[in-house]
Amino acid sequence: MSQTIVNAPSFVKHTKLIAWVAEIAALTQPDRIEWCDGSEEENQRLLDLMVSTGMMRKLNPEKRPNSYLASSDPSDVARVEERTFICSAKREDAGPTNNWEDPAVMRDKLNGLFAGCMRGRTLYVVPFSMGPLGSHIAQIGVELSDSPYVVVNMRIMARMGKAVYDVLGENGNFVPCVHTVGQPILTAADDVKWPCNPEKYIVHYPETREIWSFGSGYGGNALLGKKCLALRIASVMGRDEGWLAEHMLILGVTNPQGEKHYVAAAFPSACGKTNFAMLVPPAGFEGWKIETVGDDIAWLKPGADGRLYAINPEAGFFGVAPGTNTTTNPNCMATLDKNVIFTNVALTDDGDVWWEGLSKTAPAHLIDWTGQDWTPDCGRKAAHPNSRFTVSAGQCPSIDADWENPNGVPISAFIFGGRRGDTMPLVVEATDWQDGVYKAATMGSETTAAAVGQQGVVRRDPFAMLPFCGYHVGDYFAHWLTVGEKLAASGAKLPKIFNVNWFRTDANGKFIWPGFGQNMRVLQWIIDRCENRATGQDTPIGVVPRYEDLSWEGSEFSQELFTAVTSQDKAAWQRELASHDELFSKIADKLPASLKTRRQTLGEKIDV
Ligand code: GDP
Ligand code: PGA
Ligand code: MN
Repeated sequence: MSQTIVNAPSFVKHTKLIAWVAEIAALTQPDRIEWCDGSEEENQRLLDLMVSTGMMRKLNPEKRPNSYLASSDPSDVARVEERTFICSAKREDAGPTNNWEDPAVMRDKLNGLFAGCMRGRTLYVVPFSMGPLGSHIAQIGVELSDSPYVVVNMRIMARMGKAVYDVLGENGNFVPCVHTVGQPILTAADDVKWPCNPEKYIVHYPETREIWSFGSGYGGNALLGKKCLALRIASVMGRDEGWLAEHMLILGVTNPQGEKHYVAAAFPSACGKTNFAMLVPPAGFEGWKIETVGDDIAWLKPGADGRLYAINPEAGFFGVAPGTNTTTNPNCMATLDKNVIFTNVALTDDGDVWWEGLSKTAPAHLIDWTGQDWTPDCGRKAAHPNSRFTVSAGQCPSIDADWENPNGVPISAFIFGGRRGDTMPLVVEATDWQDGVYKAATMGSETTAAAVGQQGVVRRDPFAMLPFCGYHVGDYFAHWLTVGEKLAASGAKLPKIFNVNWFRTDANGKFIWPGFGQNMRVLQWIIDRCENRATGQDTPIGVVPRYEDLSWEGSEFSQELFTAVTSQDKAAWQRELASHDELFSKIADKLPASLKTRRQTLGEKIDV
C-alpha cells in the first residue's frame, strides 16, 4: 500500500505518527485506513457494522438502552499468559517470571506474521490517553488495529479520539501499539463473526516502549491501553522515573464523622477488585460512604507532601459479569443500566442479558454465549466464566468526585488479597513497609478463568502483578522498597500495608466469609488501624483483629466462624513458607537482602 492512501486528516499534525501508520500499513496491507475521531457518529457506525457482520447483537433498548452483546470465538475468551512476552534487550531484565525472547528474533518473527495480516480489512488508527487528557501524569498511546471491537471498547476504557491529537501536537511522545486479529480476508470463508488466530503473541518491548499483539480479539490481549500499556509498559516507566504502576483498585472511604481516607488494593484477576471498589456498606454502617476512583489499575506518585498519590489511568470498567447482581454489587448493576458492551454473556428471550449469579433462578430458556439454546438442566454454563462488561466509569453511582483529578488522591493504606481456600487469614497487618513488601511479594492466589489455563491452582502472584510486571520481579521488589525508603525520608506517614482473604472455604468447599458488602467490617478495621484507633493481636505473621476488634453491628457472623476465617495453622504456614522459598530461589540473584532476612525471621516465628 502506498503512502498516499494513508490519507491522514488535517487534525493530525504529527509527521512521525503519519509515517509510522504508513509503515505499518505497508507491512499489514489493509484495504483501507480509518483515522478514528472518537465521535458518537463513528461509534454508532462501527456498532452497526458489527451487528451486520454478526459479531454483535443489539440488546432490547427497552431493557438495556444502547447496549450490545459480542460473542467471541470459543477459543478466544481470556488473556494468554503463555503467549505474553517481555522482549527486553537482556533476558535478565525480563526475569524468570516473564516469557522472554530476543527482541531482534521477535521482531523478525512478528514481521513475518504481520505481513499482509490485515488484507481485506480496515486498519483503524485509535489515539488514546491513559490518564486525564493533557494531564502531567497521562500517557498517550496510538493503537493500530484491524478490529472494530477494539475501537468501540477503547473508546470506553480510555480517553479516545480527536482531542488526543491536540495533546500530541507535531511531535509529542506516544506509545505505538500494533494489534491484529491475525486473520486476513483472503476468501469469503475468512470473513467470520469473530476473527482470530490459533497462534497468539502479546509482545512488549520495554526499552522502546512498544506493544505488538497478534491473533486475539479478547480484552486484555487486544485493548492495548489496559494491561499492556498501563501495567507492563508503565511499570517500566515507573521503575525508571520513581513511581508505581499497579494492578490496584482505588476507593475512598468516609466515616460518619466525615473523615475520608483512600486505599488502594491489589487482587489478582477475578479476585474481587471491581466488587471491593464499589462496595456498599451493610446494615450497621449507616453514615459510612464508599466512593470509587478505579477498579483495576493505579498509577502512584509521591506528592510534594511526601504522601503517595494515586490516579486511575482508565476511563471505564472491563469487569467480570458472573457473580454480579443487585445484592453482591448494586452499584455495578446500576452502572450497567445502559451504554454497555457485554462479551460472552447469555442472551434472554426478551433481548436482554443473563449470567450465572445474576438471579437465583435462571430463565427457562436462553441463548448461551456460544449461540446455542440453553435450558437450566442442560449441564452447561450459559455465560462464559470470564464473560465481561465494558462500561464508562462515569456511569457508576459511587464514582468519586476526584476520580479524574490529575493530581490523584492520597493513599492511606495498601491492601493485597488473594483467593485462598485456606492458610491466609481474613486480614493481617504488616508491621512496617518492608514487612508489607514481603507479604505482597510472597502473596499466593488460586488461578481463575481470567487467563487461559488450569483453574483453582495456587500460585505465587507477587503484588497481583505476576502477569503484568514488565521487568524482573526482583528489581520490582527492590523498587517498592526504595519508594518506601524515599517516602519515609520525607518524614510523611507511610501507607500501612495489609493482606486480606475473602475466600476461605469450609469442609464442603463453601466460602465461610460472606464477603462483598460485609468486607466493610475489615475495611473499617484497616482505616482505624491507620488512625491508631483499633486494637489487634500480635501473631507470628502480623497483627490480626480478635473477634471483638471488629464491628459486628447488623451481622450474625459468629465467633466460631470468625475463628474459621482467621485461624493460623502451623503446618499450612510451613508449606506456605516453602512456597515463598520456591519463588525466592527462582529470583535469588536479584532478591533484595532485606526480604531474605524477613523470610528468616518469619520462619523462626512460625516454627516456635
Ligand atoms: P476483579 O477481576 O479483581 O475485578 O474481580 P471481581 O470484583 O470482578 O470479582 C470476580 C469474581 O469474584 C466475581 O464472580 C465476584 O462475584 C467474586 N467476588 C468478588 N468479591 C467477592 C467476595 O468478597 N466474596 C466472594 N465470595 N466472592 C467475591
Ligand atoms: P482482569 O483483566 O482479568 O484483570 O480483569 C482482564 C483483561 O484485561 O483481560
Ligand atoms: Mn475487575
